[in-house]
Amino acid sequence: MVKLYNTQTRSKIELEPITPGKIGMYVCGPTVYNRIHIGNARTFISFDIIRRYLMWRGYDVTFVQNVTDVDDKIIKRANEEGRTAAEVAAEYTEAFINDMRAVGVLDPTVRPKATEEIDEMIKLVSELIEKGHAYEVEGDVYFAVRSFPEYGKLSGRNIDEMEGGHRELRADGQGLEDRKRDPLDFALWKAAKPGEPSWTSPWGEGRPGWHIECSAMSRKYLGLPFDIHGGGSDLVFPHHENEVAQSEAAGGCTFSNNWMHSGMLQIANAETGEAEKMSKSLNNFLLLYEALEIVRPESLRMLMLQTHYRSPLVFGDQRLSEADAALTRIENAVKNLDWLLSNAADGEAAVDAAALDAAVATARESFTASMDDDFNAPEALGAVFGLVNASNAAVAAGAITTADVAVVTAAREAIVELMGVFGIDVTAAASGDEGANYPDAVLALAADLAGFDGTDKAAAVQALLDARAAARKEKNWAVADGVRNGLNDLGFTIEDTAQGARVSYNG
Ligand code: AMP
Ligand code: ZN
Repeated sequence: MVKLYNTQTRSKIELEPITPGKIGMYVCGPTVYNRIHIGNARTFISFDIIRRYLMWRGYDVTFVQNVTDVDDKIIKRANEEGRTAAEVAAEYTEAFINDMRAVGVLDPTVRPKATEEIDEMIKLVSELIEKGHAYEVEGDVYFAVRSFPEYGKLSGRNIDEMEGGHRELRADGQGLEDRKRDPLDFALWKAAKPGEPSWTSPWGEGRPGWHIECSAMSRKYLGLPFDIHGGGSDLVFPHHENEVAQSEAAGGCTFSNNWMHSGMLQIANAETGEAEKMSKSLNNFLLLYEALEIVRPESLRMLMLQTHYRSPLVFGDQRLSEADAALTRIENAVKNLDWLLSNAADGEAAVDAAALDAAVATARESFTASMDDDFNAPEALGAVFGLVNASNAAVAAGAITTADVAVVTAAREAIVELMGVFGIDVTAAASGDEGANYPDAVLALAADLAGFDGTDKAAAVQALLDARAAARKEKNWAVADGVRNGLNDLGFTIEDTAQGARVSYNG
């Protein structure tokens, strides 16, 4: 049974799907006026892992994520660059989709764009006016917050405390506040200003407010209520609080049964060392595509997994290299299991098959128990590492008989499958370009000592190992040691086993 922490109840509750076996999930998407930064990516990767886990648990998940492609920031950028807002939005929508795919985030089931759902929003705003929850002022439409007595229930705020904050705002002379009947009210529809994108509505030319978008699109594609609404914790108030108010006031029923929020990605302040939210406004952000120039996507996902999705995550170079090293350990374990499997022979078994078998079962059980407990990925990753350790012990024992093939295969499959739930293919390094990380100098070494004349670095290493094996056979220790020392100097480790030499690269 999957349990999740519900922001609204402030407790872990059992996930009870509205329709058995199905989950409807909505996660607020980006405002497309810039490439996304790794803080945004953290939120999207967190929900990708949650979604993938639910799918692995057998749920049929419908995942809806909007694109906010009309907004003040998009219009501002368009004006600065002498382009239309639509051009700016199209560019960054495409970039967003590519960025997400580059870090292995699955495409949503539906990715509605705000500008293509304006009718749906106008319909919802009209319903709110009809029901007395919204009113028009000179082409603007506002939600009457006090008409929805439960306002504040998601974020745990008290309406009267909120009002205090807004009064101060009014004293600052914010003209807009004066158009509202109550400073707490927020815009559902904004009258068009000259030069801005606009649509025809019953209240004149205008464009939708941000909050109404998500209420309209989630209702259209999931129906109310739906199972899970997610986003970064910075969206709880006011965005999600406002979504609840709009959707429940119009629909007369619960909006989302569960609210999930991921913690903020932070970065240490260069001067004070204090962790701060990574954000465009603080100008301390690293864009996702820039991060992918210094780290492979799998390692970035690994870093994200190492912190629980609700906790703040402090990003830094040290953490990146640790994550990469941890991932390499898992990839190497898989490679070594492959090697063990390819060397199975009849004879005496050195591997403790029963221990490995037990380790596979334990890993699967504790992985599931951890993820069932509010998607505790760091703990679930620990379960994978438990199996990696058991596998490494088997590999160190050095030999398997054909009878052990099944259990070694099961260990390999479990590691690959469980990491796959995290969206990380740990076989890529093994099956793909194995020599990609090897230093170029290995080609010269192989040319020197093994007469190798190719350009494939993995093949060069193999040629060196073959030359060393031949030299050892002939008791030509000078050549054999020369190969070993040469490889060691380049960062390779050679291990001699009953099945021959095995090399690993730690550069
Ligand atoms: P935005 O485009 O600003 O609406 O952000 C898109 C998503 O990224 C939202 O779900 C935000 O909550 C999330 N987000 C923004 N900054 C961060 C951050 N520093 N860490 C984690 N998530 C973030
Ligand atoms: Zn939203």
